[in-house]
Amino acid sequence: MTTAREGAPRDRQPPTRIGLRSNRASRSGGRLLVTTDRPCVVIRHRGARDGRTGRPTVFLDRDGVLIENRGAHVRRASDVVLIPGAVDAVRRLSACRDVVIVTNQAVIERDLAPAEEILAIHRSIVDTLTAAGADLTGSVICPHDPARRCMCRKPKPGMLMAASRAWGCRLKDGWMIGDAITDVQAGAAAGCRTMLVRTGRGAVHKGDTRRAHPDCVIAASLSRGLDRLLT
Ligand SMILES: [Mg+2]
Ligand SMILES: [Zn+2]
Repeated sequence: MTTAREGAPRDRQPPTRIGLRSNRASRSGGRLLVTTDRPCVVIRHRGARDGRTGRPTVFLDRDGVLIENRGAHVRRASDVVLIPGAVDAVRRLSACRDVVIVTNQAVIERDLAPAEEILAIHRSIVDTLTAAGADLTGSVICPHDPARRCMCRKPKPGMLMAASRAWGCRLKDGWMIGDAITDVQAGAAAGCRTMLVRTGRGAVHKGDTRRAHPDCVIAASLSRGLDRLLT
């Protein structure tokens, strides 16, 4: 399980007013409106190692990397389908790197699903990874509609910077792994090396990514890309 914490408040952007129901509020059945100027939702995972270990950080996109993309977004627990090999890949990765999930979830602000449901789905994915022996530092979720032009939604690097501020995650020698060119753009903007996986949208984004980011490593999947990353 996870616990929500304060996000990094220092980003210069307009306050967001999003009806995120907290874990505590959902347990008590009430709706707690967390009116906040936080730029994104920053979640430290229970039992996570301190981020200041000096190990490089691997930032993982979620949809299309860990779980299958859905045309109409992942909005309910039954939408979650793990990508083969992903769980074991995260376990192997987290044995020697700090691992943080960074995911755009505009469905929250667009009100396409209750924020509580989206956060519960995310928690269940993290629980599955943890139960398999993965050790995740945390997750950062951008809940904003793209029209808000926030500083955290990928392709901007705000979520990576938020993790760096919150947990001392090391960006130098870090990696950003995603299935979209926007993941690669965010990673490059944060000074990380980048990997595009051909799961999810990666097969479609491969050509543009290769042209714009010739240094980006392209791999069939997270599992298949690990050897490249860990050598
Ligand atoms: Mg994705
Ligand atoms: Zn955002």
